[in-house]
This record gives sequence, structure tokens and C-alpha cells, in this order.
Amino acid sequence: MNAFGSLVAGLTNPIEALADFDAQVLLDAGCSPARVRELVKVHTAYYGKTKFTRKQANAIKIARSTKKALDQLVYIEGRISSIEDPAEKWDLRLALLSIPGNYDTLKRRSKDIVPEVDKPAPEPSVGFGRSRDESRPMNVMGPERDMAAIEYALRQDLKDGPAGPQMYEKLMRLLGLRPDEDDQPSGIAPAVPRPLILIPLEEHITIMGGDGDEVILGLTDGTTMTGAEFLAQNFGDVLEVAMFHPQEGPVNLYDTQRFANQKQRDLARATMPTCPVPDCRHAADNCEVHHIKAWSKGGLTNMDNLAMLCRYHNRTNDDDPTKPHHGRVENIRGTPMWRSPRGYLIPNTVHPFGAMTLLYGR
Ligand SMILES: [Zn+2]
Repeated sequence: MNAFGSLVAGLTNPIEALADFDAQVLLDAGCSPARVRELVKVHTAYYGKTKFTRKQANAIKIARSTKKALDQLVYIEGRISSIEDPAEKWDLRLALLSIPGNYDTLKRRSKDIVPEVDKPAPEPSVGFGRSRDESRPMNVMGPERDMAAIEYALRQDLKDGPAGPQMYEKLMRLLGLRPDEDDQPSGIAPAVPRPLILIPLEEHITIMGGDGDEVILGLTDGTTMTGAEFLAQNFGDVLEVAMFHPQEGPVNLYDTQRFANQKQRDLARATMPTCPVPDCRHAADNCEVHHIKAWSKGGLTNMDNLAMLCRYHNRTNDDDPTKPHHGRVENIRGTPMWRSPRGYLIPNTVHPFGAMTLLYGR
């Protein structure tokens, strides 16, 4: 027998060889750990301890007579892995071993022997993942009829070249995020951020006193303007002014109502452009207003008591600081910051351009 012949012999009638199976030898020899785990299951079935010793001996005999290959033995264990009752499992294993023929035959005929487990249909949902290289994945799960209709729409008028990028552009046009061929915007409008001007309180006094020509102000869209340009602006429609104090953070304006007003929401958004929980990627624009000290416990709707938290972290935040569990958001010198259940303050560095960082460098 040549070398390939002996390799094939090992794979096609492995049931005797499996008696001396040793996972560590295979791992040391460089085999894939996933494959070794599969083989451990096969070895355990045919040579491990069991109450069903007669069935086990019978299984080895049948595997030998139907010349089950290693891949078929692995497949059989996978096929019956969800069966809980050990006696039923043995009966199904013996039935599958008795099927003569190649891998595809075993696969096809096993469908009649081991019925597929009915999994509940997935719920329709849309999910968004983490950005990488300024790209971000979106996953949509929905009834196949809807998905087929979307695919059909996206596949219309495909030109030469890969379909994926063309379907992406088509989808963006359908959502109204690209001008249509006839330049008619349709569908949802693209989100247009309304930039805030960030003005330290002292600078504001300087500018209002008429001495602000040299003062450079930052905007939340990443641009700057001088104090003179600021005064020349027609405020209200496009630009809004946000005032920040170096120690207190955004300046308080209202405190007597439970729900934050738009101005407070904007200030909270500017203070921390993401949910403050470390590594959370949710933008403040998609977050909920959170009272750091709960309104029901006397917490006011003051800027120093507000933070923008994503839906999930707003619900899991520890509202009672004396019972640390998931961690909680606190106000640290004007900036919402997450304190771990063990008491460590950990900033979220996903987006480093919050107002207090831009204005005061922290
Ligand atoms: Zn979050």
C-alpha cells in the first residue's frame, strides 16, 4: 500500500483504530481543535462508558460491516446530538449506521430517520454593528416574502460587474439617501445634524463685550468660527449656542419639569456624543435622556443630572448606587462617566469629541 492508500484506509474504516484514540496526540500533530472535538464525541460514543454495552458492541459491528468512514461517523453524532434520551439516541445511532452507501446517501436517508428539530421562526429585526474603516454592517432579518421583494427590487437593471455594490447603491436610492436619477428625493430624508457652537462661559462674556474677534469657537460638526463671525450669525434656525462652564459642564437652564426640553437634550448630546458606557457605540442622537439621580428619588432635570444613554444601558444602569450590579453613570466635572460595579471610573473612548473634551481638554 502506498502512502495515500494508507491515509484512505485510516479514514474509511476507522472504527478499530478509534479504540486507541488520543486527542492530545492529534492536537500535538497539528490537527484542527474543532475536528478533534468532533472525533472525541465519536470516540466517546463507541468506546466511552455507557449503560448500553450491548448496543455499543452492536454499533461497532454494524459500523464495520457498512464500512462507515470517519466523516460519516462524525455526521451521525452531529445528527443525533440534540436527542436527550440515551436509549432513543442509541436506537437512532444504530439505524443510521445500518444505512449502506456513501456520505450523501447517509445524509439523504437520515432525514427520514431523525426528523429535523423545528426551530421557531426568527423575529423580524434590524441590527447595526460596530464601525470598521468608516464602514458599518447592517443586518436585516425578515419574512422571506419581504426579503425576496427587496432583492427583486435591488436586482433590477444590474449592469456588468459585481452585483453587491450596485444593489447597495440602489438600496440607498430607494431609502432616499441618494438623489434619484431624476433628482427627486424619495423615501426617508437623510439625517442632517444641526451643529452646536461650543462657547466657554468666559469667552462668551468676552465676545458679548465686543472683544471676541480673536476668540476661536468650536462647532460640533468639527469646524470653527471666530467670535466676530459668531456675533454676525443669525441665530435660531441653523446654529444653536451651547454654553459650558469649566467645572459644572453645560449651564443649567431648567429644573422644574420631569422631561428634558430640546435645549437640554441638545446640551447633553453635545457633552457626550455617545452613550457614556465604555465601548458602547450608540450615538447620542439615538439615545434616551437619563436622570443620573432618578426623578422619582428627587433628581432634578438639571444639566448636571442628565446624560444621554442608549436604550439598553438606560435600562441596565444601577439606579441605586448602594447596590452596584451593572455599573452606573455619574457626572464627573460636567461630563457623564461610567463607574464600574467595583467603583472604577472608565471613560467611553469610542468618540473623543465631546464638548467638555473639545473645550477644556478632558
Ligand atoms: Zn450604551
